[in-house]
Amino acid sequence: MGKIKIVQGDITTVEVDAIVNAANSRMLGGGGVDGAIHRAAGPELLAACKKVPAEKGVRCPTGEARITEAGNLNAKYVIHTVGPRYGVDEPAERLLETAYQNSLNLALAHGCQSIAFPAISCGVYGYPLKEAAHIAISVCTRPEYDPLTICFYLFSEDMAAIWTTALKNHCHE
Ligand code: ADP
Repeated sequence: MGKIKIVQGDITTVEVDAIVNAANSRMLGGGGVDGAIHRAAGPELLAACKKVPAEKGVRCPTGEARITEAGNLNAKYVIHTVGPRYGVDEPAERLLETAYQNSLNLALAHGCQSIAFPAISCGVYGYPLKEAAHIAISVCTRPEYDPLTICFYLFSEDMAAIWTTALKNHCHE
């Protein structure tokens, strides 16, 4: 297994090759972690997002990922991914899995060694936290991602505890 770290903190301050943004499909900023990332990165990030081709306003369909430069963040890239809205986008489990998978694949394709994730879909999109943590850990522990150091940045102590439990359970499977 590659290195997986679980940290309680603000993802906008982290120094890694790629910071993952829980974006929406328009990729023009929004609330939650998306808003925080855009505020910290500055207008260059929005300009980079606007360059991503859009089809009827959609730059990144649910479950997919797109990569841009990172503006003022301490990262080379921002990887924007769109998780499922729980109870709306189906199949939710598969879409959350592919959001993680496509983000990790983009990081590898761009030569990244380190990547930081927020809890995709766990805010406004309403995904149950334990299930989301299980999916996140199951994808990130796949052997193909061994070359990456993967950090999860969780906003609260409770969420960090849920992710830590999911990682422990996975190791004992
Ligand atoms: P989604 O729309 O995918 O649900 P949100 O941004 O609403 O995304 O929430 C995703 C998670 O990110 C939530 O758990 C939220 O508390 C957390 N979050 C918000 N801001 C930050 C931040 N600056 N750093 C890390 N996590 C954050």
